[in-house]
Amino acid sequence: MGRLQLNDLTKVFESGGNDIVAVNELNIDIQDGEFLVLVGPSGCGKSTTLRCIAGLERTTSGQILLDDRDITHRKPKERNMAMVFQNYALYPHMSVRKNIGYGLKITTDLGKDEINERVERTAELLEIEELLAKEPGDLSGGQQQRVALGRAIIREPEVFLMDEPLSNLDAKLRTTMRTEIQQLQQDMDITTIYVTHDQTEAMTMGDRIAILDEGELQQIGEPLECYHRPVNQFVAGFIGSPSMNFLSVRQDGDRLEHEQFTYEISPDTQDALVDASQNLTLGIRPEHIQLAAGDATNAVETTVQVVEPMGEVTYAYFEIGDQNYTASIDGERRIEAGDEVNVVFPEEKIHIFDGRSGEAVK
Ligand code: ATP
Repeated sequence: MGRLQLNDLTKVFESGGNDIVAVNELNIDIQDGEFLVLVGPSGCGKSTTLRCIAGLERTTSGQILLDDRDITHRKPKERNMAMVFQNYALYPHMSVRKNIGYGLKITTDLGKDEINERVERTAELLEIEELLAKEPGDLSGGQQQRVALGRAIIREPEVFLMDEPLSNLDAKLRTTMRTEIQQLQQDMDITTIYVTHDQTEAMTMGDRIAILDEGELQQIGEPLECYHRPVNQFVAGFIGSPSMNFLSVRQDGDRLEHEQFTYEISPDTQDALVDASQNLTLGIRPEHIQLAAGDATNAVETTVQVVEPMGEVTYAYFEIGDQNYTASIDGERRIEAGDEVNVVFPEEKIHIFDGRSGEAVK
């Protein structure tokens, strides 16, 4: 079993007489066997959270429960968790066989034969049998990462903790390893907490994702839920690539007034805005922007500045006022820099955020 609960988890560092609140009253309930991704920008507190869970960092306040047992102040080795690091942290002068088996040798009283058997089973699972006699220095980054995974897996922990394990790999290998880690996690059915700053990794790997900013949980949910229904402007801007476009507007009855255009809104949207402040932010994802041929409701005239053909889609960059925006359009459609276009933000696709709090109001 491996249900993990973080109750008001808080970590404050002291640095040069200042308090740095790295993690602020974090509450997350991770189910047994769940793959949870902690994601957020650099410095948001992801690694500190993981290190507190692992016992590598002393928790300032709050509780960590594993299957209802309070492990907040337990030593790392008493937690039955295995961690995989970004830099693999392999022992450079030990063979792969010894690297994988070392944890078992020092934490259990298993005999040499039993350890060898388990090392071989693990190597088979990760398809690295032929590497067992080599040393880490003779391996590629991807192979080293497999060995690091092997070292974690062999211990059959209750929880896997992974801190940006793929960030030292090239883009292609990262995609392959992403699928492999997911497959492995599903096969082993072990609760996994995976830290990354990469929203694509988060979206594709997690059963749920927890988005952090400045030590605080912004949203936790299934990836598509966070994509379609972000609770605030931070999450809306962080999840999705290219990022959501934001435009500052003011509500005036049945219209949103932007410096450069007026956007008519339906009674339903007006209802949603009843309690919001007048200053609002309109959000629209690049893939939801349409290009209208002639006049259309709520069309905004603009000129295409730059186009980036990606194959299936083309990114078209345009300006409204002095701000830049991105539209992602069908790759088959012909479009060039300098084209005059009407861009349309379909009302059913727009998001509206309170200009002051950043909270989603529609
Ligand atoms: P990154 O992706 O860059 O590793 P992160 O989201 O993992 O970032 P943390 O490393 O958890 O963020 O850091 C959170 C905050 O705590 C940052 O402001 C960081 O500077 C601070 N911090 C982390 N470790 C320490 C420490 N040992 N002493 C002082 N401050 C620290």
